[in-house]
Amino acid sequence: MVTAGRTTRAQRMAAPLARTVVRDLAAEHGACLRPVQLRRTEIDTGHVEQVLIPCGHTLASVCPSCAERARILRAAQCREGWHLDHEPVIDPDPATEDQRALVTDRAETQEARDLLASAGVDTGDLDEQIGELDEAITDSGLRGRVLPARPRRHRSTRRRQDAAPLPRRPVSSRTVGRTYFAPDGKMFRPSLFVTLTCPSYGRVGEDGAPADPDTYDYTRAARDALHFAALFDRFIQNLRRFTGYDLQYFAAIEPQRRLAPHVHHLPPDLVAINRGRQIRRRASAQLG
Ligand SMILES: [Zn+2]
Repeated sequence: MVTAGRTTRAQRMAAPLARTVVRDLAAEHGACLRPVQLRRTEIDTGHVEQVLIPCGHTLASVCPSCAERARILRAAQCREGWHLDHEPVIDPDPATEDQRALVTDRAETQEARDLLASAGVDTGDLDEQIGELDEAITDSGLRGRVLPARPRRHRSTRRRQDAAPLPRRPVSSRTVGRTYFAPDGKMFRPSLFVTLTCPSYGRVGEDGAPADPDTYDYTRAARDALHFAALFDRFIQNLRRFTGYDLQYFAAIEPQRRLAPHVHHLPPDLVAINRGRQIRRRASAQLG
């Protein structure tokens, strides 16, 4: 029996915890349980707003919604890429009338602007118009920009003495690996499971915090975390040069308990393990 204002401990314990209900509801609606709050400032107006972005965790025990989203995305990527046995041909759609009209407009505005500029007249209005047209062109669904891209700064590592020499072949534009046939006619496409891990920065406790802050290599930990994506990118680039095609791969980045970044991935085709080591050494030397 509940008397007004008085409850027993058992009754209070039986009532659902508000926080648990929030979690369950969020999970039920596919919303992230631990969104990351970011502050966005509009540079023009100085207007500040708070935005929440999903945590993107891949473990269901941490965030069921984000893990499920990641799982569906991986499944789609796998279906559309990894399991393909023929090279996909993607022909862009022809441009629509509207898109053609916008690009024509853009060219005429540029011509008018250049005329004014060569006469030494202020081009502010036309520059603004060009900016708006560029935006409209992007909004209309066209990719890229109409102006030729500025030349990219090319940093070659070819002459670095400390990089391990790597046999390279010209990279052909295929993305699908080779298929092999067993004597019984069964087709298979071998792949390789690779784990890349950064070295230890010092012992850590249960919660991942450094056991001895005085000897823990914070600088190196920060540097590795910052450059890990670039390092992995370079590894894949070298792997592509070595195999001679734009190989597809599947990868998951997981920070370990000691917070060292760590990646598992599955490149298709046979790449001898010792070659993998060579590629890895080269990638670290290039970033080192
Ligand atoms: Zn989440």
